[in-house]
Amino acid sequence: MKILIIGSSDAGISAALRAREVSPDSDVTVLIKDGYPNFSICGLPFYIGGEVANWRSLAHRNMDQLLESGIRFMLHHEVTRIDVKQNHVFAVNKSKTEVSFPYDKLVIATGAVSARPPIPGSDLPGVFFMRFMNEGFAISEYLNTHQPKRAVIIGSGYIGMEMAEALHRQGLSVTIIEMASSVMPSLDKEFGALVEEMLRSKGIRVLTEARVTGIDKKGGALIVNAGNEKIAEADFILIAAGAKPCVDLAIAAGIKTGPTGAIRVNQKMETSAPDVYAAGDCVETYHRLTSRYTYMPLGTTAHKQGRIAGENAAGGGTIFKGVVGTQSLKVFDRVVTRTGFRDNDARANGFDPLTIQMEAPDHKAYYPGALPIHIRITADRNSKQLLGAQMIGHHGSEISKRIDIIASALFLELTIADLINLDLSYTPPLSSPWDPVQMAAFEWLNHI
Ligand SMILES: Cc1cc2nc3c(=O)[nH]c(=O)nc-3n(C[C@H](O)[C@H](O)[C@H](O)COP(=O)(O)OP(=O)(O)OC[C@H]3O[C@@H](n4cnc5c(N)ncnc54)[C@H](O)[C@@H]3O)c2cc1C
Repeated sequence: MKILIIGSSDAGISAALRAREVSPDSDVTVLIKDGYPNFSICGLPFYIGGEVANWRSLAHRNMDQLLESGIRFMLHHEVTRIDVKQNHVFAVNKSKTEVSFPYDKLVIATGAVSARPPIPGSDLPGVFFMRFMNEGFAISEYLNTHQPKRAVIIGSGYIGMEMAEALHRQGLSVTIIEMASSVMPSLDKEFGALVEEMLRSKGIRVLTEARVTGIDKKGGALIVNAGNEKIAEADFILIAAGAKPCVDLAIAAGIKTGPTGAIRVNQKMETSAPDVYAAGDCVETYHRLTSRYTYMPLGTTAHKQGRIAGENAAGGGTIFKGVVGTQSLKVFDRVVTRTGFRDNDARANGFDPLTIQMEAPDHKAYYPGALPIHIRITADRNSKQLLGAQMIGHHGSEISKRIDIIASALFLELTIADLINLDLSYTPPLSSPWDPVQMAAFEWLNHI
């Protein structure tokens, strides 16, 4: 059985490894546009900020480890066409020669590209996007060779936030520009405000409700405009306006995309074409809470979907159980997390939500070093079904594990009362007999 995989990042490698595990006799080939198979692009901000000294350590697995699994790698092979009728893929290699590959089963794992809002001037030298290893290297080199002093980051999603810290670590003064009314629009405004307060305390300038309409170059400086007004000057600009699924190949092959623009798949990760699977940032993702497909490009999901696509391509019949929308971010000394619905999402999905906000110490106050955790928790007023939560706390306060408790509860459709009954661990330096997530559940019940 010939299994061909396009893309060598989280989804592609997970598919390849699983296919070889399930069917050790299968011939698994991965086609890779660049020369960086299985690198963690999630680590790029930490490399640029200097916390990770060597980019090579961003590899999830090195080439020797990958080859041990019996997978064949075709580096520098950019796929240009898929023929779903003849089961063939065509690629152009480094010497610009077209090579064709037959397949019995194909997995498309082409990922995403940076969204490029139509901002005139975004192609000027000194303006960057960051998605791939080579884009990370280009930024790092620019910082070394040009020694910029002032950075502007357009967009305050998680990449914008991580890069704000990275550039601050490199000694740049940083301005974040966000068109929404608060930073991190995937959080409620109250929490966006807390994040803004923390950023300002670190010396980061934050501009909200500011829509960048153009970038000019004047006398060596990059000028950022909103309408007729100059809102910032910079020597370095990063546009971090989200991700867009990389679907041109699939569309050209006649494979269906959904309303989000990403490839339509079912829970077996099958596309509309026979023998063709897809996974990761190029596909729509099944959301457990809405029972609908959404676009939520994340490494966690890409790994799971890739594994399922690989298993099924190799003859399995497993299904992707879906996401609940869980994300964590460390920015400076804080951790910001969320999972599930916020009020508006919950209402749009037929629930009658109540969200409460509270603060609790991360461990018993008598044990030194207790720090507050801010929690917003959402549940349905009628059924008391837990619907989502957001948390902000200090790095070291086990924030991401606490959101994972909520994420697990959402996965299992637990109620607020179930959350209170969970048998969670306790020792004074780490928690309280009632963990903060359970304190939040009590507080929610007090408001109903
Ligand atoms: C800076 C940054 C930080 C992130 N941090 C997090 C995080 O903390 N947590 C989290 O869950 N997620 C994070 N993500 C998202 C996560 O990295 C992605 O969701 C994940 O990489 C998706 O994996 P993928 O395999 O679907 O796609 P990608 O990683 O986009 O890989 C797609 C691959 O396909 C190849 N390809 C595309 N077209 C072709 C072609 N025509 N021919 C051959 N090869 C092709 C590309 O070269 C690439 O290797 C982050 C992303 C970035 C950019």
